[in-house]
Amino acid sequence: MRNFLDKIGEEALVVEDEVSTSFEAASILREHPRDLVILKNLKESDIPVISGLCNTREKIALSLNCRVHEITHRIVEAMENPTPISNVGGLDGYRSGKADLSELPILRHYRRDGGPYITAGVIFARDPDTGVRNASIHRMMVIGDDRLAVRIVPRHLYTYLQKAEERGEDLEIAIAIGMDPATLLATTTSIPIDADEMEVANTFHEGELELVRCEGVDMEVPPAEIILEGRILCGVREREGPFVDLTDTYDVVRDEPVISLERMHIRKDAMYHAILPAGFEHRLLQGLPQEPRIYRAVKNTVPTVRNVVLTEGGCCWLHAAVSIKKQTEGDGKNVIMAALAAHPSLKHVVVVDEDIDVLDPEEIEYAIATRVKGDDDILIVPGARGSSLDPAALPDGTTTKVGVDATAPLASAEKFQRVSRSE
Ligand code: MN
Repeated sequence: MRNFLDKIGEEALVVEDEVSTSFEAASILREHPRDLVILKNLKESDIPVISGLCNTREKIALSLNCRVHEITHRIVEAMENPTPISNVGGLDGYRSGKADLSELPILRHYRRDGGPYITAGVIFARDPDTGVRNASIHRMMVIGDDRLAVRIVPRHLYTYLQKAEERGEDLEIAIAIGMDPATLLATTTSIPIDADEMEVANTFHEGELELVRCEGVDMEVPPAEIILEGRILCGVREREGPFVDLTDTYDVVRDEPVISLERMHIRKDAMYHAILPAGFEHRLLQGLPQEPRIYRAVKNTVPTVRNVVLTEGGCCWLHAAVSIKKQTEGDGKNVIMAALAAHPSLKHVVVVDEDIDVLDPEEIEYAIATRVKGDDDILIVPGARGSSLDPAALPDGTTTKVGVDATAPLASAEKFQRVSRSE
């Protein structure tokens, strides 16, 4: 995180006033949705809070050393070309002790939340069978000074825990909080279960990523601000939630696994990274890594795809905009089907011509306004499986998908030409 702060630290909005971790801090973060914010003085902790490290595509591009429109390609390239890690160092520069969450400025965001939540914590674990390392970001609700209830969706960490529980064992883990956006983004990519997210991160870092070896668990983590060591307990479940998810609505309360913490390592001058639930940082981190999946699926169907974006207004989850160089009539409809199939949570997708900038919502609206004829260009698919985060989905998980083909008909292309762009 420090190298990244060297690049953008001067832009930070620094709040010197004393604020509480309960609601006050989150309310300040809500007032500055696109800023890097540092809260210097928390009532409950000596550690400052930092938020907004990656709440814009520009900051993410800076961390990936590319331009905004190249982010998708950069992620695809790194997922396909992971770089093995050879640099592993020790815990120099950290003060270590017994884990005590009451020392950390963990925020309580909204009144109805189930408790304070760690929102930027990446969990590192090893596959009990293969030893392959996994890194994934999870929300963790504080239920004691050394205990967390953790939401684990059925992906790699879930499988590791299942394997450990079948053996009657706890799963050793480390939690890292406070890393640069590129490393954080790598932990949210959907790579195979036998691949290592840190090797994707290492490609983002041109092979220069150095990990830190933990002390009480057999694990290496990125040089984070705060490192926690512990175990996910075999067979134990606690109520987790309510928590405000991506869609700015409450997720349901579930019985989820429990982490028991043992050791804690805090960097000297550490800052605690907090991600505001439903804020742009949350949306981009969760949504951006899905864009390459959609891009690849669309490219199979229409090779002249130009760009794919899960738009921020659609919570970077439910809405996609795809631009293509249309070559044959019907391309738009095929793109709709490919995109909806590639990201099952996708609800609405709009396809536009390559002269439309998919990163600009006004451009997309312009395309819908001038190039759509409702009875020809709208595809409706009822009864499809949707996102569990979609408040409009039915109790059985189905919803209606809509595709809008906002590409101009090839036969009358001239009529649709944007004069101000061409003359
Ligand atoms: Mn994995």
